[in-house]
Amino acid sequence: LNLLLLQCRAGFESECAAEFMQHCVDVGQSGFPRFDAQSGFVLFELYGDALAVIQAVSFRSLIFTRQWCACLPPFEQLPADDRLSVLLPAMTELPVCAELLAEVPDTTAGRELLPFAGKLASAMAQRLRQQGVMLPRKARADWRMHLFVLSGRHLLLGVSPRRNGSTLEMGIRRLKFPGAAPSRSTLKLEEAWHWFVPRAEWDARLGGGKTAVDLGAAPGGWTWQLVRQGMFVSAVDNGPMAESLMETGQVTHHREDAFGFAPGKPVDWMVCDVADKPARVAELMLQWALQGWCQEMIFNLKLPMKKRYQAVQQCLEEIAEGLEAAGIRFQLSARHLYHDREEITCHLDLRVS
Ligand code: SAM
Repeated sequence: LNLLLLQCRAGFESECAAEFMQHCVDVGQSGFPRFDAQSGFVLFELYGDALAVIQAVSFRSLIFTRQWCACLPPFEQLPADDRLSVLLPAMTELPVCAELLAEVPDTTAGRELLPFAGKLASAMAQRLRQQGVMLPRKARADWRMHLFVLSGRHLLLGVSPRRNGSTLEMGIRRLKFPGAAPSRSTLKLEEAWHWFVPRAEWDARLGGGKTAVDLGAAPGGWTWQLVRQGMFVSAVDNGPMAESLMETGQVTHHREDAFGFAPGKPVDWMVCDVADKPARVAELMLQWALQGWCQEMIFNLKLPMKKRYQAVQQCLEEIAEGLEAAGIRFQLSARHLYHDREEITCHLDLRVS
């Protein structure tokens, strides 16, 4: 196989391609991307083996790729009546899998194909298991199979390593909007925790009456998540906070500029959703880390500009270089979450120092 399918938010294909190109070079491989603007995916043609590359590049280190797989050449002219007769024989070229994800581009047109993709995937999985080509659902397999449907006649079939990819269809974490939260932004912080904090560590890292600062907090969607975990929150914003949050007794509202705010004493978490230039936000995050004002932080970098990948790289480098120069140990990661639009979410973990 020499083709990789990278799924991303529609409109972020060039960031997804540029980032992957860089990671390819880092593992000594090369290739070239092909994509249509607003399509929600990139096809990356490799000069080397796609199965090797998809194991060598760390999925978690990618910001803009939501889901990926190493693919067979595209099926472009499938018969409408018996697709499986064409697809099944080709599948024997893929490593053994125990599950099959039904996926489509995350676009308006793509989402309409989801019911069809689901039906085709379950028919395929059933036949493959009957033939002994696919293992039973609960069996252990090192690979996961993907069916990526572009139309009734045009689709891609591929595999991703079970431990180096997303378990979620299209890499999308669907979360229910909690009706009591003051804004839809609340889902960004919840999704961030799912991505950056292993579930088994939620109690230790999020629970037990921790302290937090929320910069750019109004009307309080992120604060609501912090309060829900039992945290005591200093909410910093000149705008009004939802009354319901203030009534919990866990929130202190500081009507101040986030760029001038200093906590009385260090807190467990600092989160920041301030709408400002990413470079300015990055500088503020670095300052918090250098001062030792928090253990962990989650912050958003807004990306309204043209050269978004470059802007992200500059911000992350600036933070990393600043911390390295000060001899502070850290882990910095970033992700273009499903609930992020023109922005990415970052996690800076300073507990290692
Ligand atoms: N996270 C919030 C939520 O879940 O409800 C939404 C935050 S909204 C995207 C951005 C907020 O940043 C606005 O409420 C705005 O008032 C605030 N903001 C912008 N610049 C700020 C600054 N310099 N200091 C404090 N807040 C600021």
